[in-house]
Amino acid sequence: MGKAKCAWFDFTSCEGCQIEMTNFGEPFLELLEHVQPVEFREAMSEKAEEIDVAFIEGSFSREADRARLEDIRKRAKIVVAYGACATSGGINALKNHQDREDYKEFVYGKDKDMPHLDTQEAKPISAAIKVDYEIRGCPISRDDFVNVVSQLLHGTEKVYIPSYPVCVECKLRETVCQYDQGGHCLGQIARAGCGAPCPADGIPCEACRGLIDHPNLEASVKVLKEKGKLPARWAESKARMFTANLLPDAKAD
Ligand code: SF4
Ligand code: SF4
Ligand code: SF4
Repeated sequence: MGKAKCAWFDFTSCEGCQIEMTNFGEPFLELLEHVQPVEFREAMSEKAEEIDVAFIEGSFSREADRARLEDIRKRAKIVVAYGACATSGGINALKNHQDREDYKEFVYGKDKDMPHLDTQEAKPISAAIKVDYEIRGCPISRDDFVNVVSQLLHGTEKVYIPSYPVCVECKLRETVCQYDQGGHCLGQIARAGCGAPCPADGIPCEACRGLIDHPNLEASVKVLKEKGKLPARWAESKARMFTANLLPDAKAD
């Protein structure tokens, strides 16, 4: 098999996942020996007619982006959405629960009506085109990226995504629970696969890879509030940070 022609595209995002890739080091450089980058706005101006794998970062938040997404889909054999923005709408989806005119005015003041600021609800890339594989996380992890890419280069049809919560991985690495240190955490309803690095670094999990299949969100908000000592509104917002499109209503008692 020759080198796979790979292209990278970005939509509404902070481009942090692309930047994170530059920190992946040795395994990423090894992987590049098996792929041929044919389009990458950050580094080259060429445009490819045929693409084996298109990597898309960022959410679909402007109708004007639909045609560009459809063009990518037409040219690419495989489309991979990577990062929370692309796979669920991510942190951008927080705006779906706010008054759009208010925040445009807050950020852009008198220029809020400029045409290129036209925007809609932030959605995953799959809301506009068919997506073949997803790599979750904010940002994505090196192991996930290398794992997914090596699996799809070998023709695997379905990539394994754990359905158990981050708490499982946190316990396996024997991290002292955030709640036992007077903190708070969403690990009990967050989808695992990352290896629970945040609690190990003393940071609460914020479910950047989405939620487990049947999360008890109400109970989690209650725990955030009662055990984590977060004010009710803050607890609701925490639970919604990366999951705004998945579970819009997270009310505390
Ligand atoms: S998933 Fe996170 S790091 Fe990646 S582009 Fe979106 S906000 Fe940035
Ligand atoms: S720190 Fe978070 S992920 Fe770890 S056991 Fe406690 S709640 Fe679960
Ligand atoms: S511990 Fe939570 S916030 Fe941190 S990477 Fe894993 S899922 Fe994301």
